[in-house]
Parts: sequence; structure tokens; C-alpha cells
Amino acid sequence: MNLSTRVHNDADPSAISIDEARERIKSRLSVHTPSEQISCADALGRIVAHDIESPISVPPFRASAMDGFAVRAAECHAPLKIKGQSLAGHPGNDVLEDFSCQRITTGARVPDQADSVVQQENTERSGETLIVTQQPATGLHVRLPGSDSQQGTILIKAGTRIGAAQIALLSGHGIDTLDVLTPLVIALFSTGDELQTTGKPLLPGQIYDANRPLLQALLGSSAVTVIDLGICKDTESDVHAMLQSAAAAHIIVSSGGVSVGDADFVRPVLEKQGRVDLWKIAMKPGRPLTFGFSATDQAFFGLPGNPVSAAITALQFIRPAIRHMLGMSPRMSPPLHLPLRGSLSKNPGRVEYQRAIMACDDDENWWVSTTGMQDSHVLSSLHKANCLIELPIESTGAESGESVRVLPFSHFAEDAL
Ligand code: AMP
Ligand code: MG
Repeated sequence: MNLSTRVHNDADPSAISIDEARERIKSRLSVHTPSEQISCADALGRIVAHDIESPISVPPFRASAMDGFAVRAAECHAPLKIKGQSLAGHPGNDVLEDFSCQRITTGARVPDQADSVVQQENTERSGETLIVTQQPATGLHVRLPGSDSQQGTILIKAGTRIGAAQIALLSGHGIDTLDVLTPLVIALFSTGDELQTTGKPLLPGQIYDANRPLLQALLGSSAVTVIDLGICKDTESDVHAMLQSAAAAHIIVSSGGVSVGDADFVRPVLEKQGRVDLWKIAMKPGRPLTFGFSATDQAFFGLPGNPVSAAITALQFIRPAIRHMLGMSPRMSPPLHLPLRGSLSKNPGRVEYQRAIMACDDDENWWVSTTGMQDSHVLSSLHKANCLIELPIESTGAESGESVRVLPFSHFAEDAL
């Protein structure tokens, strides 16, 4: 390889992988256990604190899955007398005379002496006599008691997020209150003498603080309360005061001020007051991640100041940390690969995330392309993106048409159902 084609290598022997950093963080975090009882109607997005047992079997009785006739399958070769009915919510007589049947509706209790239900479409009726035109197998269209869940079995495990499906499941079992974890509390502040809060005019040299609103939106949920501590000046005393005012939080998150510049006080203050782990992680964007604990043992994440770096490190490290503290299992998403439009260059040695757009043409051929400029201060391209392209550590880029790994933003979203 001659000099002009030599590829610069970003590998740093002291850097650890994203997975290793996540594992190290997890191994140091304690699990959040305080719980409270709330009504099911208020539980959307909350995390189940203890395994929930099924108080009843569902369905509670043998129920018809069809509109038709409750029969004994063995008698269906002969004409049957129609005697009585069992309607949903209005069970009929349990006794079925020889060679008789009962009209039945979906969800109605099947008479004890019937073993099957023939659907209306497979019968011919003349007055009170029924001819079954298609012989049923015994048990046809009968929902057995407990076929959804058996009384005493675990319905929902601790660590499950309550979504629409869980609310339906609990309600279907007559459960109207449950124990959920109290919200995890995150205290959030931005650092930087150059930062201004929205609503106020920009003074010379100032920029608006994008990170607090970003992280509030990214990390807050029904299960996580975010306390906004505001903007912290680049002084030791201000950083110190911020940590003091975060006393109610389980996790403290700051952005900016974590490098080794003159104005970077986050790390020295945390070092004095608590303990700090600082890792180089083989990823881009994402500078060294500051992780540690305050004097009162609150987990601390010091994110990079550039908003895109803050967003990606929050997704990669804080979201999984929150799940772990809430007793949830790690998020799993299927890998997705799409052909690249345009080419990408990259130095080997770090995993690289590029903001990108996935879309399809009129023939439903899907592709992905970057949003262009990838500087980590460029929020407009985060806004335009609907996914990230993940280029592996050893990659030197990708050519147009090559298949690349895509992480849709929807993969980071919490479950919809
Ligand atoms: P720092 O990590 O403090 O050196 O900041 C790196 C870059 O991110 C600088 O250009 C900062 O002005 C910018 N930055 C830091 N914090 C924020 C913020 N909260 N919102 C927008 N930009 C920020
Ligand atoms: Mg700064």
C-alpha cells in the first residue's frame, strides 16, 4: 500500500467496545425497587413491580367460538332437534336430550352435555330440525376454560412495561389495581457559559441550549421523571452546586464540559465528590464517556456537549441503564440491512453512526442514504433522519449499492402495544 492510499486508523488500544461499556455500567448500577399501587387505568407506560398471578382462569367456562349450534359430534350424522339456546351472557340448559342441539352464539357458555359447536354456515335448518352438512370433530369451536390463562399462573412478569396489551390482559382477568415501580428520577443539567435558555435573547457568543430539551424528551417517560436543573456555568462551584441540588435523583445526567479543556469542570468535581470512571469507547460520535457515582451514590453520566453526540450516547448507554435499573430485559431488535445510496468513507478503529434516511421507490425497493453533513453539532440532520447507519469497527466505508446495517429510530422507541 503506498502512502496516498494508506487508511488512517482510529483504533485506540485503550478503547473498549460499546457492549463492554454497557456491561460495565450495568454491573455497577443498583436495581430500583420502590413500588406503589395504582389503578390499571393509570398504568400505561409504568413498570410492573412484582410478578402478577392470574386470579381466575380465562375463559372461565367452555365458550363457543362461533355462532351456530351446540351439538354432540357423534350424533351429527342424523337430523337434530333444536331445543333451547345459549346466548352470550345468558347460558342455556346444560342438559341436551339425545339427538338434539342448542342454538349458540359466540362467547356463550357451551352446555355441559354438548362437546362441539357447528357453525351456522355448515347447517341447514327446516323449522325446528337441523341437518349438519359438515361433520364436526369433537371439540370443534369450543374454547376450553383456562385456554388463555390458568388460575394461579404468572400473567405478567416483574419488569414488564404496561402497554395497551397488558392493560387489556389485566382487565380481562378482572384486575383493576397493580403494583408498579415508582418513577426513576433523573436530574438533568447542561454545562456551558455559552448556553442560553429558549425564550431569552441570544447575547454575543451565545447559543441556545438544545441538550436539556433533547434529553428530557429522550429519557423521560411514564416510568422516568426528569428534573430539569437548568444551565450550569463552567466553574467548579456551579458544578458542585448542581450535584448538591440533584439530591432527589437516582441518576444525574449532564452534557458538555467532560473533555480536558480549560472549561471542563464536570470530571474534577465528580472526582473530588464521588468517583469517576472515564472510558474511551470505540465509537463515533461519542467522546470518552464519563460514568461514575456522586458522594451520595447516585449514578452519573457526563455526556458530550455536541447535541448529536449527546443523543447517540444517551440512546446507547443511558436508555439501557434505565431499563436495567427498572428490572427490564435488554431491548432486542432484528438486524436490518439496506442497500446504500451514495458512498461513505470511514477510518477503521471505531464503530461509526451516521444519521440517515431510509425510504423506498415506487416499486417498494428500500434503500438508505445519509443526511449529508455529519458534524455532531448539526441538529437539522438529526431532524431529517429516520435511522442511523452503523458502520462496523473495521469498516473503511461503503460503496453505493452495498448493504449496510441500519438502526431505525423506531427500534429505539418504547413498545406501542
Ligand atoms: P463541550 O463538550 O462542553 O466542550 O461542548 C462541545 C460543543 O457542544 C460546543 O460547541 C458547545 O457549544 C456545544 N454544546 C455544549 N452544550 C450544548 C447544549 N446544551 N446545547 C447545544 N450545544 C451545546
Ligand atoms: Mg462546554
